[in-house]
Amino acid sequence: MTKEKAWLSHYPNEIPSSIEYEERSLQSYLKEAAETEPDKQALHFMGKNMTYKEVYEKAQRLAYQLQQLEVEKGDRVAIMLANTPQSVICYYGALMAGAVVVQTNPLYVEREIQHQMNDSGAKVMICLDILFPKVEKVRSETFLEHVIVTSIKDYLPFPKNVIYPFIQKKNTGIKVNIIYNENTHPLKELLANKKGEIWEYSIYPKKELALLQYTGGTTGPAKGVMLTHYNLVANTLQCRTWMYKMKKGEETVLAALPFFHVYGMTVVMNLAVMYHSKMIILPKFDPAQVLKTIQKHKVSLFPGAPTMYVGLINEPSIQKYDLSSIEVCLSGSAPLPLEVQERFEKLTNGKLVEGYGLTETSPVAISTPIWGKRKMGSIGVPWPDTEAAILSAETGEIAEAGEIGEIIVKGPQVMKGYWNRPEETAAVFKDDWFLTGDMGYMDEDGYFYIVDRKKDMIIAGGFNIYPREIEEVLYEHTAVQEAAVIGVPDPYRGETVKAFIVLKEGKKVTAEKLEQHCRAYLAAFKVPHLYEFRKELPKTMIGKILKRTLVEEEKKSLKIK
Ligand code: AMP
Repeated sequence: MTKEKAWLSHYPNEIPSSIEYEERSLQSYLKEAAETEPDKQALHFMGKNMTYKEVYEKAQRLAYQLQQLEVEKGDRVAIMLANTPQSVICYYGALMAGAVVVQTNPLYVEREIQHQMNDSGAKVMICLDILFPKVEKVRSETFLEHVIVTSIKDYLPFPKNVIYPFIQKKNTGIKVNIIYNENTHPLKELLANKKGEIWEYSIYPKKELALLQYTGGTTGPAKGVMLTHYNLVANTLQCRTWMYKMKKGEETVLAALPFFHVYGMTVVMNLAVMYHSKMIILPKFDPAQVLKTIQKHKVSLFPGAPTMYVGLINEPSIQKYDLSSIEVCLSGSAPLPLEVQERFEKLTNGKLVEGYGLTETSPVAISTPIWGKRKMGSIGVPWPDTEAAILSAETGEIAEAGEIGEIIVKGPQVMKGYWNRPEETAAVFKDDWFLTGDMGYMDEDGYFYIVDRKKDMIIAGGFNIYPREIEEVLYEHTAVQEAAVIGVPDPYRGETVKAFIVLKEGKKVTAEKLEQHCRAYLAAFKVPHLYEFRKELPKTMIGKILKRTLVEEEKKSLKIK
């Protein structure tokens, strides 16, 4: 298989190709941190700090509350929070109660919340007060029995929350609208700041779920990815092994990625807790604020998304800051344009490495060897105990080096399947391989390269065109800050290429000039003939450009269903 794992010869000596995985629950790592380094600072948020002991005790208190609300092992508890200390406390607290966490994107609209609550069957939701009105609108159509509402101000002491019990379940025909506040709640005595005995369930990490993480949703309803404790512990341990120079208890991690996304959850939250690192939590991404924070807190690890690095290199004040504390910046979740990587590294002297993966792989499967041989443009090599290969579309077999096909992976971080969707699960597994839906190739050295997402490929006049290649060329233009390329219907070629452009502040360029630029670097059939200049592009909260939204908008403007 895969030419005998050629990548292994490029692992730095310090990285073993196989690790021993601990069969432990995720929450046991928080307990360990609280017991061995109770006074170590775990969190910093808006000028305040919290130690590992405090985080653990608050999580225990929440676990007790949840169990008082009759949350039992395997029940789903949804969390809809922006990055705050509660995000960490609630995640671990729900796990400690024996629940399966369902992360809910705070940007979701009512329809999406309703779908996710019904699909997961969540019994309790914890949400930020400002988000509650959206939940309130759909709650009678879900299985939610309680919603715990918290506010940013509540986090010290925590939980000083209001609990909204929904006595009637779905389809009972009776709508009950009882909303209590802290003082009138019937369970007030029972719940108010009480710390009681938690029932500690035994966990079977390989079998039991820690997380139902929703993914997709642009082409159909979002599916719940079933990730076990083992999947998530394994990916966190793989990450720790990969970053072998990082020292336990000595790192400061910038938490700019949202915790409700599996990337922020594993590479920031789980990793920080496992490493006993200090997390600097930022409620939102603001380039100048990020630079200031890195300098002030001497951040050593900064996982981010490509659009964050684009924002930073275009921040005029970047030269003013001392960013020398940074050991590693990890870019993931979307393609990192070469131009951005090169400019960021020059500006920071930092290592901007790239990771690749999906929600289904907890999320990282492949990444640039941080202190090993790097190849520009490559997403690197598979992580320990992870195999990757290319599936040839022609033969249906594993492809030779250099051939473009679908990237397939195997490893301890690969999901158990999609929640209640056996057909969709079967469709993404073939002989134990997980089919990623991403097109790429592997070179002779075993390094992987992403070409594009299978479903983003444009077919124009019979040619396969990968938008990513065109975006790379557009990013090289000095006036371009962001670029997204999609296929739009064309009566002659089937599809034609359209580019959406955000210009750098103070820069100007015409569509004709951009077309000329593209002609110099791309074959004629790939050159976009349509350009649209925008102030900003639609993005997910993690900063991924939402190409599907652009496609939908385009269809709407052309009145296509
Ligand atoms: P999600 O499950 O939302 O994290 O999305 C996973 C998808 O993000 C993958 O299937 C890829 O298409 C894309 N992706 C993640 N990391 C990278 C990367 N380093 N380069 C290119 N695409 C990426």
